[in-house]
Amino acid sequence: MESSSLKYCSVLLDSARLTEKHSFYFDLLPYLAKWGYNTILWHFTDDQGCSLRFDTRPELASQGAFSKEEMKSFISCARRKGIEVIPELESFGHAGYITRRMEYRHLFETIEGRPFGAVCPSSPETIEILEDLIREVAELFPSEHIHAGCDEVSFGSCPRCRERLSQEKPWEVFAQHIETIRLIMGKYGKKMMMWGDHLTSEPELANRIPKDITICDWQYFDVEASNVSGLLEKGFDVVCCPALMNAGKVIHPRESNLENIKEFTRVASNSESARVVGMMNTVWCPYRYLQGAVIHGIALGAAVFRNADLEPEHFSREFAADYFAVADAAAVGNAIRAFYGVAPELSLVKSLAPLDWDEFEPPDTMQIEECERMRREGLEILATLQAHRPHIHRNINHYDDILVSAETIVGLADNAADIRRFFEIVSMDDLREGNTVKPRAQDLLRSLAARSRSLHARVRECWKKTRFEDDPKRDGRTTIYPHDSSLAHRLKSAADFFVKLT
Ligand SMILES: [Zn+2]
Repeated sequence: MESSSLKYCSVLLDSARLTEKHSFYFDLLPYLAKWGYNTILWHFTDDQGCSLRFDTRPELASQGAFSKEEMKSFISCARRKGIEVIPELESFGHAGYITRRMEYRHLFETIEGRPFGAVCPSSPETIEILEDLIREVAELFPSEHIHAGCDEVSFGSCPRCRERLSQEKPWEVFAQHIETIRLIMGKYGKKMMMWGDHLTSEPELANRIPKDITICDWQYFDVEASNVSGLLEKGFDVVCCPALMNAGKVIHPRESNLENIKEFTRVASNSESARVVGMMNTVWCPYRYLQGAVIHGIALGAAVFRNADLEPEHFSREFAADYFAVADAAAVGNAIRAFYGVAPELSLVKSLAPLDWDEFEPPDTMQIEECERMRREGLEILATLQAHRPHIHRNINHYDDILVSAETIVGLADNAADIRRFFEIVSMDDLREGNTVKPRAQDLLRSLAARSRSLHARVRECWKKTRFEDDPKRDGRTTIYPHDSSLAHRLKSAADFFVKLT
């Protein structure tokens, strides 16, 4: 598949979970264009916030939100670079930007035991709110489409929905809600996009809804080609959406993310149908990493969309020369490329920088081996990045973000060694029973606390340069998913936790 045949060569920017300083998005535009993107999916609403101030519902805006004037200016700057901005307005699931507010709390519902919720599809008030928002979004964004979200929905607990569900199947109620949203969008001159997860898991729903809705099929692990072909056979246009950063990732994208982008591009290329209309590089939850940590992956994504067999090494050298204007682009490019191989999963990071007791446990043999490799390779990356730091002539804040991300990974690997030694002296039972910790173990805890605190200070320094310093998400644990917190908050909490144990 040639990029020229891609109607959408797109990147998802998650401004809902964290709104970056607005200059970041403006500064990124010429690069996005240069790398080959023609579309931004502007993910500006989610459970954690809304990065646009509406006229009709200004109370929904979170701190740092765009005014409509700023948004207009961003859209027109993007247009001048050949980039369309498609807004994503969550209209069913992930609607906490509405339902987490006191005045709309009664519209929230979920099914016990499910991780997600929804805004009630049966309440007239929901439809009133959504129509207000869709009307304003349609007026503001010139794009042909509005994306309605509709992923990871869990509904059916309120009396109105229960009543409907006694007569109809859940997929019928779901389909009616989709049709309502589509009609409202049509009324304001827009076509609808939505995520594909409920359609690939519930064929009746996919059969029922109108086929002029463009489906964004997201698959972040093993890519099922049949999900794509199934949607195409039913008659939908499909955008294939891998992830550069998704749940379970923190600090930096991993090798598996690059694999996901490559594999999904291959599936899209093999598809017989012309109705795979695009690719989308999704980059979620910026609070989990420093701003600069994803820039290379955003650039690489567009290049892979053009050529799934691309050599990331070659590309990374070109990226280093262009983005950082560094003389020895080979060394820096290779170091940045190598980062994907050392970035740890959140599951490992949790035990090395625990927020609290629930996450604190002795690393197993495999984790210890992984941390030794992380430390060895991380130190090499770090040494290269430090050596070339004086010769960086462009985007130095993003270079520092990568450098501090490498410091964090090496630091966490050092934490692993201390934690292992700690558990050689102290048992989990000792700790739980509150027995006094031996002096040697106390030293290890102090070392863990000091290292975590100093990593936190480095991460904060970077944050201050590129992001809103007073953003509550910097130091906040999200109350929605308790163990999902910003990198800064995790490191600070870990320092406090180790102090508490001494
Ligand atoms: Zn309901």
